Amino acid sequence: MSEQKKNDRAGWFEGPQADCSALPGDTQSPWRLVLLGAPGVGKGTQADLLHKNLGACHLSTGDVFRAAGSRDACEQTPAMKAAIEYMRRGELVPDTTVWEMVRERSGCIRCGGGFILDGFPRTLAQAEALKGYMESESLSLSAVVNYELPLAEIVARLSGRRTCEKCKSVFHVTGKPPRHEGVCDHCGGRLFQREDDRPESITVRLEAYERSTAPLIRFYTDLGLLVSVVAAGSPDEICDSTLSSLHALTSSGDHRTLV
Ligand code: AMP
Repeated sequence: MSEQKKNDRAGWFEGPQADCSALPGDTQSPWRLVLLGAPGVGKGTQADLLHKNLGACHLSTGDVFRAAGSRDACEQTPAMKAAIEYMRRGELVPDTTVWEMVRERSGCIRCGGGFILDGFPRTLAQAEALKGYMESESLSLSAVVNYELPLAEIVARLSGRRTCEKCKSVFHVTGKPPRHEGVCDHCGGRLFQREDDRPESITVRLEAYERSTAPLIRFYTDLGLLVSVVAAGSPDEICDSTLSSLHALTSSGDHRTLV
């Protein structure tokens, strides 16, 4: 991987008025990816690893809602306040609000560095909106990765997840425990359980996934873009499987290079 300044993704987190700290490298064929998979399959971890290998930015809609939720309430628009309430209950934010938020950040979709979308699209309406927008900009997706894992494993992963309130590092009570219970290994911050990782929210989120997001698998299969990856094993192993599958899908067409 080439040396490059880490992008703070300000354009994604803060909106179009913010400039990202690093411009995309000289990428001739940027990767434009969507990651699908139930909450808890590890899409966020994979998006970070894929970013390191492919250069494209990790864009998570959940991260934007969480960042907005931790801001002062008076800085939030009424639509964002409502969105944060949906998120806290584990329910999906309405399509119009989500699309407004993404549309406002469409510079990230057009960005020459490409993107790795995590948590968006989540419904057919969102997928249609993204497709329509990309077509209007003469852009196309490189692939859609669908991460698969048995339900019981997903519930165990989500309910044991703990996040650092300061640096946002993620631990797991059994899978990746911190050295000292409740304390972040990296910065000493307090570890907490995300509101939407509580048992009552997990059930709601998994039901929302089955109802709203599972139909996207058919949508992207029909477009010839879907790649399925079993999300079991270490994060690096899963990332290697993803990269092999992506190269197998795209090797017959245009050629993209790892950075
Ligand atoms: P995530 O981190 O992707 O699991 O997202 C956390 C929460 O943010 C979800 O449970 C939803 O409440 C909300 N959210 C994030 N992305 C979307 C989306 N594309 N559509 C609807 N709600 C979303």
